[in-house]
Amino acid sequence: MTAQPPPRHAIVIGSGLGGACAAAELRLHGWAVTLLHAPQAAAATDLPVGLMAPLVTAADTASSQLVRAGQAVTLDWAQRLLVAGRDWAPVGCRECNPPPPDAAPRPRRHKALPPPPAAGADWTQPVPQADALWHPRAAWLRPRALADALLRHAGVLPQSAAVAGLRQVGGLAAPSWQVLGRDGGVLAQAPVVLVAAGTASTKVLATANPDVAALVAAWKLARTPGQISWASGSSPPGLVHALNGHGHLIPNVPWPETLQPFGAPAPCLSAQAATFFGASYRHDDADDPPHPRAAEAHANRQRAMELCEAAGHPWQAPPAGELQHWAGSRCTSPDRLPRVGALGSHAPGLWALTGLGSRGLSLAPLAARCVATQLSEHTSPIEPALVIAWAAQRLSK
Ligand SMILES: Cc1cc2nc3c(=O)[nH]c(=O)nc-3n(C[C@H](O)[C@H](O)[C@H](O)COP(=O)(O)OP(=O)(O)OC[C@H]3O[C@@H](n4cnc5c(N)ncnc54)[C@H](O)[C@@H]3O)c2cc1C
Repeated sequence: MTAQPPPRHAIVIGSGLGGACAAAELRLHGWAVTLLHAPQAAAATDLPVGLMAPLVTAADTASSQLVRAGQAVTLDWAQRLLVAGRDWAPVGCRECNPPPPDAAPRPRRHKALPPPPAAGADWTQPVPQADALWHPRAAWLRPRALADALLRHAGVLPQSAAVAGLRQVGGLAAPSWQVLGRDGGVLAQAPVVLVAAGTASTKVLATANPDVAALVAAWKLARTPGQISWASGSSPPGLVHALNGHGHLIPNVPWPETLQPFGAPAPCLSAQAATFFGASYRHDDADDPPHPRAAEAHANRQRAMELCEAAGHPWQAPPAGELQHWAGSRCTSPDRLPRVGALGSHAPGLWALTGLGSRGLSLAPLAARCVATQLSEHTSPIEPALVIAWAAQRLSK
């Protein structure tokens, strides 16, 4: 009898949605995984609830295709691991300012993906009203619930450790990476390291060597703070689905997070429900982690009421002072594409999954599956052109 080779070992840095999905996918592909995270670091994944809706662009860009393919993977995990109505709900979404009809989206084929969770033959079906698109497979989702469920499902236990640097050891014959703590000590060592540390990713990666530092600087990733707001016990009358346009709005989300069996969307608001809306964008780094601001609360409230008005569900939201808020930072890229894959010959065994921007719920599980299949030399779930579109070795224009 021949002995089984030992499992390949990877270290994943970051346990937000990107890192959690990657750690789980690698484990499910048979890898031994060490997952390190800095619990005191702010994580965008702590967003209380977010929206997943297709990104409709006239030319059906790589971003639109990746979002579409990604949502199928996220929805599949949500159906398998989460409690509908508590952790997520496929409520559908009405997009109020889609591209003009003469620039209709042209969905392309992609490789076979899990079947849709809800009825609906197409991704985007125009509704009878002018200037609107109906997305039957849009859903709200609590990102932390998905990250935790995936780690439990795959049997991965995160370890608390703030990573300060990376060091390549072992020479060309057996290259390996040491992950260093703040005191310079070695936290872990493995042939493969995946950095999925959100807004801290480039700082961690840049410590690997000068070539990697130059590459990640050329990505031009930015920290983009923002805020969502919510009104407990108040909802636009008659609205049972999400709205998207200039900002988004999600009605009837169970809040506080209590178990509430999912059925058909309730026509009236339950006692334990809230309407979430936002999110604001700021382009300054004034506070890290960001704190909720009154000006952004007012702006979120105003946009939410305009969105409801445009959708035919006029709503007088409670005053900004009566709303609740959560602030966090996205890791954004100028081309709105994340960076997913190997850093290349400059740093063999070093990988990245970052720059998920405002679409992490749609993109993280697909990106993680791509990383795991590439590392395991299995068939990619997406076409080569899409793998190249978000490749970590690609610079930003
Ligand atoms: C206001 C707001 C609204 C949003 N709304 C939506 C939405 O509606 N739909 C949507 O799809 N997306 C939305 N997003 C984006 C989404 O939340 C992110 O894309 C996603 O959560 C990013 O996940 P991540 O794993 O890349 O990063 P994060 O969740 O930020 O995780 C980073 C991880 O890295 C770890 N870390 C950091 N530094 C270190 C270090 N030195 N050592 C070790 N570990 C470290 C942290 O502990 C954390 O575990 C929103 C974001 C914000 C801020």
